[in-house]
Amino acid sequence: SARPLSGRVAVVTGASSGIGAATAEHLAELGARVAVLARRADRLEDLTARIRKNGGQALALAVDVTDAAAVRAAADRVAAELGATGLLFNNAGVMLPAPVEELATDQWRHQIDLNVTGLMNVIAAFTAQLVEAAAEQGVADLINTSSIAAQNIFPNFAVYSATKAYVTHLSRHLRVELGPKNVRVSAIEPGIVGTELQGHVTDEGARAWLEGSKETMEWLTPQDIAQTIGFVATLPPRANLQQVTIMPTGQP
Ligand code: NDP
Repeated sequence: SARPLSGRVAVVTGASSGIGAATAEHLAELGARVAVLARRADRLEDLTARIRKNGGQALALAVDVTDAAAVRAAADRVAAELGATGLLFNNAGVMLPAPVEELATDQWRHQIDLNVTGLMNVIAAFTAQLVEAAAEQGVADLINTSSIAAQNIFPNFAVYSATKAYVTHLSRHLRVELGPKNVRVSAIEPGIVGTELQGHVTDEGARAWLEGSKETMEWLTPQDIAQTIGFVATLPPRANLQQVTIMPTGQP
């Protein structure tokens, strides 16, 4: 049908920009009731207003996912106001490449706190709802945002890449654990997508490398990833797309 996700509740973290914002909009178009999480409340309000204007149902929750108690409170609100979460797009993340010898330890910690601990806070708060929704509806989805950096070696991306390798490997394990309960688990591994992600990079060399890559390829768009998430979540319940690598056609 045109609204294959109607009846499902979707939660998207990192939904105030980039991949998360585009995916929240797309999942709403596919019929899901959507809760959007990130820190910037104004961006979330704009997004939910847009979704409602297009006939969708949406709930904005300004949350820092590194705050476990705040994430738990958000999960309770989702259950109370929308129902049990049947699709979790665990997507908030930050990328801060720099040569290891620069000892940018604050940036190491930031990436680990958000990409690993924040991701786990969200899993802790929502897994019971996913299992509940799967029992009621026959299927639920946990989709974690990893990166091609989990697979390939890029100089100066060591800490970021390691956080994403964690996400991919965690996802494979959770798939085996939750699959018997009809919760599908997937990791999406994009190559370069044009978002705000690149704007947070402070290291000059890494900035130049990213900027230079535009000469040799057309970057993916957030909508490309949104379409892919929609595809993953609308497969028949028996089919779990475990790991999806999506690259700009011109990216080596
Ligand atoms: P953006 O910077 O546009 O989006 C990041 C999102 O995470 C924002 O909504 C931001 O919102 C949110 N966020 C940041 N910190 C927190 C926090 N502490 N608590 C809650 N939310 C937070 O980048 P992308 O859309 O590109 O990134 C989304 C994911 O995709 C990331 O995990 C990234 O690693 C991954 N990825 C991106 C690629 C790319 O090339 N762009 C390639 C491969 C993977 P706010 O600041 O309002 O909190």
